[in-house]
Amino acid sequence: MNLILMGLPGAGKGTQAEKIVDKYQIPHISTGDMFRLAIKEGTELGKQAKSYMDQGELVPDEVTIGIVRERLSKDDSQKGFLLDGFPRTIAQAEALENLLADMGKSLDYVLHVEVPKDQLIERLTGRRICPTCGATYHVQFNPPQVEGICDRDGSALIQRDDDKPDTVKKRLEVNVEQTQPMLDYYQEKGYLAEVNGDQDIDLVFREIDEKLQNLSK
Ligand code: AMP
Repeated sequence: MNLILMGLPGAGKGTQAEKIVDKYQIPHISTGDMFRLAIKEGTELGKQAKSYMDQGELVPDEVTIGIVRERLSKDDSQKGFLLDGFPRTIAQAEALENLLADMGKSLDYVLHVEVPKDQLIERLTGRRICPTCGATYHVQFNPPQVEGICDRDGSALIQRDDDKPDTVKKRLEVNVEQTQPMLDYYQEKGYLAEVNGDQDIDLVFREIDEKLQNLSK
């Protein structure tokens, strides 16, 4: 089961990734997580990636493709994998295709969790956090007992700058620009599977699961 998971910020990609790897016992390969770990551990890779990540830029293809190549060659990737955050450029998509072909493999699905943009804005801008304990809430989907007050310690909740409407809109725009070419590429190749992300978490997973069940038949 060789999968790629795609979706805009707020679409619930992380939640679905957890469910997929849990049920199908395949490694969750997130390039962002790999870079963050490398930075934390102070490795050479971490040093290379840090300056790009700090500026919100993409790490160069050569470096990124290199770590994915290495990761896919490990034993646990042989029964399948879930790629998350990769590919982000056409060069990466092409490199992945060659890499898989060299290993006698191919992709099964590119799962795209789709949520309408206005819905994403609502999800992302509704987030509130407690500056004292770090607890997170959502004004609509996970509100505190008393509006604006942390359930745990009574602090006044705040909205992170990242979650303010203008920043959220900008972040989504940049992401759409980056993602669309990947979606077109995989649509053309026939790998793209659209999943409706604008429904209950369990229903989103059921939709994904049905597609994956068909694969194992
Ligand atoms: P993420 O957690 O997926 O949002 O990734 C965090 C950061 O890691 C990104 O902003 C990039 O700087 C870097 N990164 C992650 N995946 C890639 C990729 N496929 N290509 C280039 N840079 C990446």
